[in-house]
Amino acid sequence: MIYFDNAATTKPCEAAVAAVCKGLEDFGNPSSLHGLGLAAEQHREHARHIIAQALGAADEEIFFTSCATESSNTAIMGAAHSVGRRKKKIVTTAVEHPSVENCCKALEDGGFTVVRVAPREDGAVYAEDIIGAVDDDTCLVTCMHVNNETGAVVPIEKAFRAIRKKYPQALLHCDCVQSFMKLPLTAKKLGADLISLSAHKIHGPKGIGALYIRKGVHIPPLMLGGGQEKGFRSGTESIPLIMGFGAACEELSKTVDERYRHADELRSCLTKRCKDNGIAVNSRPDASPYVVSIAVKSLRSEVLLHFLEQRGIYVSSGSACSKGKKSSVIAEFHVPDELRDSVLRISFSAENTAAEIDELIDSVLIAQSSLAKIR
Ligand code: PLP
Repeated sequence: MIYFDNAATTKPCEAAVAAVCKGLEDFGNPSSLHGLGLAAEQHREHARHIIAQALGAADEEIFFTSCATESSNTAIMGAAHSVGRRKKKIVTTAVEHPSVENCCKALEDGGFTVVRVAPREDGAVYAEDIIGAVDDDTCLVTCMHVNNETGAVVPIEKAFRAIRKKYPQALLHCDCVQSFMKLPLTAKKLGADLISLSAHKIHGPKGIGALYIRKGVHIPPLMLGGGQEKGFRSGTESIPLIMGFGAACEELSKTVDERYRHADELRSCLTKRCKDNGIAVNSRPDASPYVVSIAVKSLRSEVLLHFLEQRGIYVSSGSACSKGKKSSVIAEFHVPDELRDSVLRISFSAENTAAEIDELIDSVLIAQSSLAKIR
């Protein structure tokens, strides 16, 4: 099997699998006062510490959630219910993941003004455009760090630094799902108040995420109940998944630079082979090397995806969550109309090799000739 769909999800690493199993064995409820509860609490706090360290944050700034979607919902709805009671404008980008875009849309339907900053003609989102959209009436700026369909990197640091200076009332949220443990990244450098993370994109288990909340920032919880996570996120904590998240994070944090260089080599290799064979590359050269959007003219994405699958090669026809629906995000990135139905997303992990890229491109070329014959 050749797996090039790592932006959709990653294979859990051995350390994460072992940690999940250990968490199932040590089955205590961390809220229990006896020894089993204490052991579970210690596991949870150890994982929190690892994740906080990896993000350059304090342990108290990390809150566990069920996924990045919940983290972003909590951040955005929380901002709307705090600063948003007085300030009614939200600034975001036109290329957000649905977990952010659909929250913004719901708030827009409820009376908020939402400004969606689009990439310019060159496919890049500019800090100046984000900064220019913010004003005194803005309660929230929510922008992703790395786009999940093209790998485009949004200049968050530059934008957030300027916005914080000029409009300190605005809360700053960043979806770092596709950048955490992939690009060198700390909460402080990014300058965000709120950061969404997900374990299953970094070789951890599904069903666990985290929300970073900068010390001193207050937003109301989304989940009410028994008061877990210092009252911020009620519900008995999933200790096995939290432990799996922590273990994956510990494993990956040792190799961020090394894995980045490897992804960069794979991206160069893929780009060269695409260019040599008339395959369009939609991602910009300054995008994250982990995600490369390509388009094979006159071959529909789904047809090619299933052709490749038959040869044991797994790719995506866009983002996994759009499930074959035509992506509006791809259009926002100015991918020419005639290529939009032919987009494939190739996303890497450290396990991928240059030989696998050769196999991918060779298979695409076979698809081109054999499907053209059928036509
Ligand atoms: N944000 C981005 C950029 C993503 O790529 C994804 C997953 O595809 C999410 C958010 C949602 O993450 P989760 O599956 O943890 O809810």
